[in-house]
Amino acid sequence: MKPVKTIGCDEALKHLLEYLDQELGAAKHREVEHHIEVCRSCFSRTEFEQRLKNRLRDAGRESSGESFEERIKTLLRRF
Ligand SMILES: [Zn+2]
Repeated sequence: MKPVKTIGCDEALKHLLEYLDQELGAAKHREVEHHIEVCRSCFSRTEFEQRLKNRLRDAGRESSGESFEERIKTLLRRF
């Protein structure tokens, strides 16, 4: 197996949302995953984003009146 290219926090965070959505290609997914494993700060950030995503998903089930963007703004204000 080829060693995973080491990426910085900037690049990991840039791709974080796609990573959580499983939208990255396999190579990029592994790079981000590897970075999260070795970087405590990005690991915390990933957990935070994952929780945010879960809350958005739950919020989506509960209310359909607000647009997706409105729900994100509401949630971001709370944090
Ligand atoms: Zn990092």
